[in-house]
Amino acid sequence: MRILVVGSGGREHALVKALAQSDQVSALFAAPGNPGTAQKATNVGLEATDLDGLVDFAETEAIDLTLVGPERPLVAGIVNRFEAAGLPIVGPTKTAAQLEGSKAFADQFMARHDVPTASFRVFDAEEADDAAAYLDDVGAPVVVKADGLAGGKGAFVCSTLDEAHDALGQIVNQRAFGAAGDQVVIEEKMEGEEVSVLALTDGAHYVLLPPSQDHKPIGEGGTGPNTGGMGAFAPAPIVDGALLSRICREIIEPTLQGMQEEGTPYRGVLYCGLMITEEGPKVVEYNCRLGDPEAQVVLPLVESDLAALFRNLADGDLQGGNLRTTPGAAACVVLASDGYPTDYETGFEIAGVGDAEALEDVSVIHAGTRLTPEGTLVTGGGRVLGVTATGRDLPAALDRAYDGVDRVEFEGKTYRRDIGEKGLAHLNA
Ligand code: ATP
Repeated sequence: MRILVVGSGGREHALVKALAQSDQVSALFAAPGNPGTAQKATNVGLEATDLDGLVDFAETEAIDLTLVGPERPLVAGIVNRFEAAGLPIVGPTKTAAQLEGSKAFADQFMARHDVPTASFRVFDAEEADDAAAYLDDVGAPVVVKADGLAGGKGAFVCSTLDEAHDALGQIVNQRAFGAAGDQVVIEEKMEGEEVSVLALTDGAHYVLLPPSQDHKPIGEGGTGPNTGGMGAFAPAPIVDGALLSRICREIIEPTLQGMQEEGTPYRGVLYCGLMITEEGPKVVEYNCRLGDPEAQVVLPLVESDLAALFRNLADGDLQGGNLRTTPGAAACVVLASDGYPTDYETGFEIAGVGDAEALEDVSVIHAGTRLTPEGTLVTGGGRVLGVTATGRDLPAALDRAYDGVDRVEFEGKTYRRDIGEKGLAHLNA
């Protein structure tokens, strides 16, 4: 099978690494990829949003299967374009990708199909006064969100009414997120622990990847501004068998069935960002692709042949059932640039990647790295690398990952020292 992976982050490097293990894969390409994907795949100089270029490439190179990492090409309709050209691809259509592309669509969909989530109201930007009055009515804490994609910056969890009015102003008056703020969604603030449950689905059948937990804020103990994710671990001990059955019954199955009933079956990766509240699991967000850094910890735990699985999914022939996974755990610690997620410098030399990878069951996933013309690996983004390890259990995986972290050096190396602690707390409870 000749496979194309679209994207350039840690998630795509993790995908390439996992696919390279399949003996069904004869050639791997990454568009545009990064220095990590280049170790196992041929990087192609096409941006993830260059839909014309990607269709042309897949036709010319006789690509048998395309996997899409980031959300933007999916929401822009890459799946419709590939399917129209008869090219197999894993992902939801443009309409189905609205589950991630529009928070108003997702909330209204969940209301129609009784999928548990926060109570909410949606307002057009022109109804800013009504939205402000609604805020005064419900009070704080409250969550204010731009409807469309905003790169993780469009959701404001507000503890005071002043903050909420300020967020509303940024979205609908200052138009800080452009057209993503044509509508604003105001949600009840849910309380609990967040987990990510990802399903691979052909629209009717699904298999679950191991539940995982991300660490969004930059600072230890969950402090400071949100980032793309500073680390992850899987499986998440908070999700026991009973909770997982409930998540399937109350969230995943009604979501897939609802999409089918509405004539927009959802095919691809369905990422459910959940809050485990006192009343049970509720949806915080849907994403239409693998998470980053969740992919870095769930993919190494899959024993089934991923290439075959994705191919069956694209053919609408997943069959469901169980995914074979390894019994242990995986952890990923993200190494970021000093100043991330706001201002940071790049271009610093990275040392010690080979030393870290020499450790048993440790791999270093590239996110924001680049090679200089002289071939030196340097920092090239906010999130630079993800040091990922597997082990017989979560403590073992975390120890190994942090041993790897100690071996990698670059100026301004920033990371959280408490990745996995919320998982350990459940194990010790
Ligand atoms: P963007 O569209 O900018 O990429 P996003 O997809 O990251 O934003 P969400 O996932 O909806 O936005 O929200 C980001 C974070 O805010 C969540 O991971 C969660 O921690 C918090 N959050 C969002 N909605 C709620 C809610 N109703 N209650 C509590 N916390 C919430």
